[in-house]
Amino acid sequence: MTKIKFFGTRDYEKDVALNWAKENDVEVSFSNDFLSYDTLDQLEGFDGVTTMQFGKLEKEAYPKLEAMGIKQVAQRTAGFDMYDLELAKKHGIIISNVPSYSPETIAEYSVAAALNLVRRFPRIEKRVQDYDFTWDATIMARPVKDMTVAIIGTGRIGALTGNLFAGFGAKIVGYDLYPNDSLDFLEYKDTIEEAVKDADIVSLHMPGSADNHHIFNKEMFAKFKDGAILVNAARGAVVDTEALIDAVNEGKLTGAAVDTYEFEMPYFTFDFTGKELEDETFKKLIENDRIQLTPHIAFFSDEAVRNLVEGGLNAALNVIKTGDTPTRLN
Ligand code: NAD
Repeated sequence: MTKIKFFGTRDYEKDVALNWAKENDVEVSFSNDFLSYDTLDQLEGFDGVTTMQFGKLEKEAYPKLEAMGIKQVAQRTAGFDMYDLELAKKHGIIISNVPSYSPETIAEYSVAAALNLVRRFPRIEKRVQDYDFTWDATIMARPVKDMTVAIIGTGRIGALTGNLFAGFGAKIVGYDLYPNDSLDFLEYKDTIEEAVKDADIVSLHMPGSADNHHIFNKEMFAKFKDGAILVNAARGAVVDTEALIDAVNEGKLTGAAVDTYEFEMPYFTFDFTGKELEDETFKKLIENDRIQLTPHIAFFSDEAVRNLVEGGLNAALNVIKTGDTPTRLN
């Protein structure tokens, strides 16, 4: 029987993986460890591997995988910057990812997070916990139908997010390096500055890259409409977090939803209950009642988990059976 090792296992993945194993007549064996040079020995006797890495796979791991006869690594995320694709290719190892697993879930997060801030829920919840039930202008909302929403990055997730906001009757503007003319609910602008200028909600949906590092900085926030809301469920590094906190504290922005934080790696997805947080910027995000921080969960739905688990396992099995897979990256 074909045997696949399932590294970086989360408990909520197991049932989906076991059902897949039954349907495909494959033995799936779980490990809580991530794939690394030191854990490769766990692959002894296995035909393939799927994992959910966060840190980089060490360079020495590739020749060892080759020597063990392992021909692929199937990553169960869209991101793949943890792999050296060229080096993997040199050692005959196909790296694959799951490019899209539930864009609707992330789009719905973006809309929910924006509405949460439009309705000032973080502030209201904090007050109610203090038994303060008063009304004042700082908790007054505006209907979304009267708003302009800017979508930055109009790919799979951005397009769905824009479409949902259009359903509320909002005016939708957008910016993308490669505009998509089929999105008839959206008016493209030529620059990010133009897109954010009149926007009440700015929703980010572009990938992170060296070119757009901290593109949302002090200068960019100064160009936002006064009182705008920012939602970042894209990549942390596109936002200069200190500049964002300042913009919120100065009242330039009404609030922000932060699902991806530029220095999230040591914290997401671990339990720090009762422990000290060393990152002062991170603490400022958490403590600010106009900022809603979530631990990179915009994607986290049953559909996404199913598609990630099955996507990883299918890619591994494809390579084992045919020597190739449609989701290969190198
Ligand atoms: P996609 O490739 O379909 O769309 C990305 C779009 O961004 C493309 O249209 C591209 O042309 C555009 N783009 C690239 N660089 C840009 C720039 N500098 N300025 C403006 N537009 C730019 O990707 P997708 O599936 O829609 O995913 C979008 C992003 O969502 C991902 O890259 C990832 O960072 C993020 N994401 C977050 C989560 C989460 O849980 N928070 C989960 C999955 C994906």
